[in-house]
Amino acid sequence: MAHTAYQDSFTASADIADIDKSEVSRKLLIDGLERRLAGQLSVLVPVGVIGWIASLTDNRALWIFLGLQILAQLAITVSSQWLRHALKAGKETTLRKNLWMMAEASSGIIWAAMMLDVGTLIGGSDAVLTTWVTILVTMVVSVLLAAPIAGIAFPLLGGFTAAVAAGIFLFGKDFSSFAELALTFMCVTLFIIAKAVNLQAHKSCRDGIEVERLSQRLADELERTSWLSRHDCLTGLLNRSALQGAMEDHGDSPTPVILIDIDHFKQINDSYGHGQGDSVIAAVGACISETLAKAAPHGLAARWGGEEFIIALPGHQADAADIAEDLRSAVARLTHQDWPARLRVTGSLGLAHGPASAFSATFKSADSAMYEAKKLGRNRIVRAPDENNKIVKPARAA
Ligand code: GH3
Ligand code: MG
Ligand code: MG
Repeated sequence: MAHTAYQDSFTASADIADIDKSEVSRKLLIDGLERRLAGQLSVLVPVGVIGWIASLTDNRALWIFLGLQILAQLAITVSSQWLRHALKAGKETTLRKNLWMMAEASSGIIWAAMMLDVGTLIGGSDAVLTTWVTILVTMVVSVLLAAPIAGIAFPLLGGFTAAVAAGIFLFGKDFSSFAELALTFMCVTLFIIAKAVNLQAHKSCRDGIEVERLSQRLADELERTSWLSRHDCLTGLLNRSALQGAMEDHGDSPTPVILIDIDHFKQINDSYGHGQGDSVIAAVGACISETLAKAAPHGLAARWGGEEFIIALPGHQADAADIAEDLRSAVARLTHQDWPARLRVTGSLGLAHGPASAFSATFKSADSAMYEAKKLGRNRIVRAPDENNKIVKPARAA
């Protein structure tokens, strides 16, 4: 397949069908961890309430649980942010994720332990009720807030549920069957809600990634279309209408025009095939760009059509003939390791002077001069006669 300049200019957009589950989970986790710090501030309320009850009842064990809970919250803060940095930097996350999940589970276990022990330790029914309600509300709020990111909700809820179950079944904590039923019901319901919210969050996140990719693809396509509307895709040079449009920006400023036509190009096609012909056209385009980059960085080059190229040189009235010679000799030196050894490329050039505003007329003069160069034997430059009807630049033999 022939090489095309626009293939170099654009990279393919990411495939929308390629969004996999782990990518969605990773994005959800990063988003969730970013919100985790703010969410943790809400823990200050239950910690304050339970601290107040502990001071009213002067209960040492409650203070210890409270201290452990504060440590667990600190561990959550540190490990979650450590994990977030690793996720963003694309580093290995297994250890950090496990530490963070352990910190979340510990927090759940401590809440449950606080709740299980508080009845026997405090003994006062108002204080027990307040502590229970505070802890249960904290669990519900924390799990619901964290539900979109399963990694946060499940260790916390799992730790809490396991500790409550262990308290009841292993350590024989004495609850009324109504309280046991209510706790079981709450934990099961929270698991189901957390899973449903998590599935919904995955779907929304996947949709979000899809919309983001579609917008990116649309932006890429717009950029590609806009580029293709102004350029020739084989050479990457401007196309005819883009060059004509650009001339309008230069008003009456003197703008020499050079027309280059590849010599005997039909023979190249006939002898080596159209693919080779395309390769020669692309190489001549690249050669024109490179030569202009050195000799006239503000010069404009376009593929006029077929094997013809046009160069406009605003502000290069004095050295236009030298630039034309640079172009002619650069094209005549063209070679490529993949080309047939006998393939030679030359071009005939017509040069004409005129203001940018009279581009069409200057182009016509350059075209006639180029035909003159063909007649005189090709691989040479002919300058269109100026007002004094003189040939300023002598024809140059190959
Ligand atoms: P001259 O030296 O007089 O310019 O002769 P020439 O053979 O270069 O000119 P002519 O106009 O006879 O032939 C130009 C050929 O260029 C004819 C056409 O098939 C071929 N051509 C035009 N556009 C393309 C293209 O994009 N790719 C290829 N491979 N060939 C092209
Ligand atoms: Mg031609
Ligand atoms: Mg030709």
